[in-house]
Amino acid sequence: MPNIVVIGAGVSGLTSALLLSKDPQNKVAIIAKHHLGDYSIEYASPWAGANFTPMSSRETSRWERRTWPYLKKLASEVPEAGIHFQKNRIYRRRKDLSRLQDGSASMLNNVFAADPHYKDFVEDFRALQDDELPEGIASGSEFSSVCINTMLYLPWLVGQCRRNGVSLHRGTIAHAGDVRIFPGTRTKVDVVINTTGLGAMKLGGVTDQTMFPIRGQTVVVGNVAPFMQCHSGTDDGDEEACYMMTRASGGGTILGGTTQVGNWESQPDPNIANRIMKWAVEMMPELTAGKGVEGLDIIRHGVGLRPGREGGVRLEKEKIDGTLVVHNYGHSGWGYQGSYGCAEEVVALVSSIAPRAKL
Ligand SMILES: Cc1cc2nc3c(=O)[nH]c(=O)nc-3n(C[C@H](O)[C@H](O)[C@H](O)COP(=O)(O)OP(=O)(O)OC[C@H]3O[C@@H](n4cnc5c(N)ncnc54)[C@H](O)[C@@H]3O)c2cc1C
Repeated sequence: MPNIVVIGAGVSGLTSALLLSKDPQNKVAIIAKHHLGDYSIEYASPWAGANFTPMSSRETSRWERRTWPYLKKLASEVPEAGIHFQKNRIYRRRKDLSRLQDGSASMLNNVFAADPHYKDFVEDFRALQDDELPEGIASGSEFSSVCINTMLYLPWLVGQCRRNGVSLHRGTIAHAGDVRIFPGTRTKVDVVINTTGLGAMKLGGVTDQTMFPIRGQTVVVGNVAPFMQCHSGTDDGDEEACYMMTRASGGGTILGGTTQVGNWESQPDPNIANRIMKWAVEMMPELTAGKGVEGLDIIRHGVGLRPGREGGVRLEKEKIDGTLVVHNYGHSGWGYQGSYGCAEEVVALVSSIAPRAKL
């Protein structure tokens, strides 16, 4: 029976643990510095929107493509997971067309492709008619998507893990090679799963210096958006975007936001918050029934750091000081929408290296 320790309790760690624990031969424990309820700048997952807006290129789309059927099933059949369906509208601003064409529109470039590859795996994809486009928008599309209430979904994942016998522990690991004994036992650990997100920069044995933060500032409001929206840009700079999504079951509406590369600032910037709210009511006046920013019912301001990585996600195995480690970190802005695809790969990598009981 392989003894597996997952470092990290974000969406990557919890989903990896969940899929690993479906095999009764695996014994799985999670050790993490931050767990649910910790709203820390070192813990990206609670701050996410989160919705399904494919960001990958066709070549790297496997993780998101594989995840969509899981999220769709949860939204259809598992209300306690806190995921619901919402239409997702993508708007390409006339002002952004040239930088969208030359590929310089940041991590969201693939989202706004004129003929996006993801139309092959999302559902109900259609181009918007001219009379559906707000002023200044050159073209747009709509498809069926989901919005995840992370405050309900992450606890649901923890519950599913516990039901499958996964144990959770608080701890900060200094070096990946230090995890040798399975928590609460004297038995040896066979495989360590590294899902530390931005923590991979500091984790001994890994210290991945290609990681960088992509700062996401948001405002959560009580107003309801009838559908999700994502705009290709704003007039306030390349690192500011306009998007909104209403979370399931009273989770409020997330108004975004920023994509500030290399920015570690943990505190909300009031000027950015004002701009986020201004864009939101301009782009979707029905949010406040035409009352403008004054009509927004502000619940809280938030900042999370997306775990960016040069070259994209790291999903591979490695031996560190004699310990077998499977890496699953660096998901940037798509950690939820790629979570099951990546966790499936973790399971495949573990199966290729872990000792199995003889049947
Ligand atoms: C504003 C915002 C909006 C977003 N919207 C979306 C969206 O709509 N859709 C989407 O799919 N994604 C979205 N994301 C991205 C998503 O949140 C991330 O990709 C995802 O949360 C990364 O999860 P993770 O588990 O890899 O890392 P994290 O959630 O950061 O978890 C890392 C874990 O590792 C632990 N850890 C780190 N180092 C150590 C150590 N040395 N020892 C022990 N534990 C350690 C931490 O304590 C934590 O438990 C958004 C992010 C932000 C900030």
